[in-house]
Amino acid sequence: MPELPEVETLRHDLDKEVGGRKVKAVEVRAARVVRRHRNRREFGDRLVGRKLGTTVRLGTLLLLGLDGGPETAALVVDLGPHGRLLKQRSAAPVDRQTDAVLSFSVGGDLRVLDLGKDGELFLAGQSEVEELADRWRGAIDPLADALAWQALGARLGARRERLRALLTDPTFVAGIGPVYADEILWAGGLRWDRDSDSLTAQEVRRLHRAIQEVVQEAVRLRGVSVGETPWLDLHGGKGEFEPQLSVYQREGQPCRRCRTPLVHERIQGGRTTYYCPKCQS
Ligand SMILES: [Zn+2]
Repeated sequence: MPELPEVETLRHDLDKEVGGRKVKAVEVRAARVVRRHRNRREFGDRLVGRKLGTTVRLGTLLLLGLDGGPETAALVVDLGPHGRLLKQRSAAPVDRQTDAVLSFSVGGDLRVLDLGKDGELFLAGQSEVEELADRWRGAIDPLADALAWQALGARLGARRERLRALLTDPTFVAGIGPVYADEILWAGGLRWDRDSDSLTAQEVRRLHRAIQEVVQEAVRLRGVSVGETPWLDLHGGKGEFEPQLSVYQREGQPCRRCRTPLVHERIQGGRTTYYCPKCQS
């Protein structure tokens, strides 16, 4: 499942690999992925002949810049929980799960797979891009915002929720899912069920540092590919953060900090959290 470090890895690679390329053809294989458009053809017609520019990220959305003027400023990619992007040779066989294919005039394809019912593609004008930016502005983006620990403390105090639920709330922090939430809480020495407004100044500082360090290290290592449908990068490769995982799916193994066996617990929403029962409090 793509969380913030995985989406950032894609942003970086898209910028390098498809920036400057001209769209020669568009094939939308599943109409639901362009549901904001009148039909598949309208989406394709607006995209063909455009040149891609810089790719930016708004939370977990990817915006591929287009040279189409203010009416068609970006191709927005919402990957949903399992979506993937793959850069391939045009001659490579098209996978069954492929939802859309963009072919470039200098060769090569950008393929969009597994968007499911939540992911989508749409073309946005400049004003729509600004609206999207506004919508994401309320959430902390650990890669984009230089948020001081005091400001994090104020936001934690303004909500009263369990820490793990808050960290995975996209209106609070962008792009933190089950993997990085557990890793951040372990790095900060905090239990998943602590109330957000109960943290001391020192604990807020620890959480602040943990968010920055875990996310930045995961970006440096190009994300993590774990679970039943592991995330893969633009070239189909795995992320390299998995050996760095301290708690996620390591129940029964000794804590890297205090050697106590790690535990897992079922929490609300049928989810599982992994933590150290001794050094997280
Ligand atoms: Zn421990």
